[in-house]
Amino acid sequence: RVSEAARLKTVDLHKSYGGFVAMSGTNLEVKAGQIVGLIGPNGAGKSTFINVITGNLFATSGSISLNDQDATLWSANKLAKSGMGRTFQNIRVFGSLTVLENVLTAVNVARPELGSVAAEDKARAWLHALNLDAVAQTSAEALAYGDQRRLEIARALALEPDFLLLDEPVAGMNHQETEALTALLRQVVADIGCGILLVEHDLPMVMALCDHIYVVNKGEQIADGTPAEIRANPVVIEAYIGQ
Ligand code: ADP
Ligand code: MG
Repeated sequence: RVSEAARLKTVDLHKSYGGFVAMSGTNLEVKAGQIVGLIGPNGAGKSTFINVITGNLFATSGSISLNDQDATLWSANKLAKSGMGRTFQNIRVFGSLTVLENVLTAVNVARPELGSVAAEDKARAWLHALNLDAVAQTSAEALAYGDQRRLEIARALALEPDFLLLDEPVAGMNHQETEALTALLRQVVADIGCGILLVEHDLPMVMALCDHIYVVNKGEQIADGTPAEIRANPVVIEAYIGQ
């Protein structure tokens, strides 16, 4: 289980691409056991934020702290080893490997001490948690879209992160799959105690799942609050209607 003291925090984080400011001053916090939403119109800078806090891009200014350590200049590899897990807006799985093998590679990274039988048991437990038992021996590239999305999450979780950053996990899923994933994520947080940062356009899902929501528009953080506060915030409504 993840320590209850685990914290991910950014202070005044900026990112420019050349002269273009994609993110200007993001202040966000995720605690262990929380599901925090990050919403905003296309191009608002949500994926940029995830890429910066996972070390896939460096911030132009501002700071990132992970479990009270200054992680601003850490590499993607060091951040991943220190508890930052993620999925991508465009799915990334090992297409030619089976579902079980995909998750097993992650288990072997997180738990190199396990023998092969124990590692496979662990991998199968993750498949079970994400409702992928039935496709364990299917090659990842042959999976239906929603299954691929869940496989990516299973693999990220098998690395045993303190924080899981999900970039549009239900994009392309139907209503039933979305409801199922919502329930699964709730269960994962209850079981493991990790924190989740959820970037998602599906507002009903975000409202149903999140403890706290941050709203960005054109790189600027324009609001944050509980789902009820965000729903009633005229600035948020304006940003969405304005798109
Ligand atoms: P979101 O995920 O909220 O849709 P992004 O973070 O992908 O937004 O993009 C934010 C802005 O930054 C967009 O205007 C996008 O075109 C721009 N952008 C993203 N990546 C790059 C890049 N590598 N180079 C230049 N501009 C980029
Ligand atoms: Mg994006």
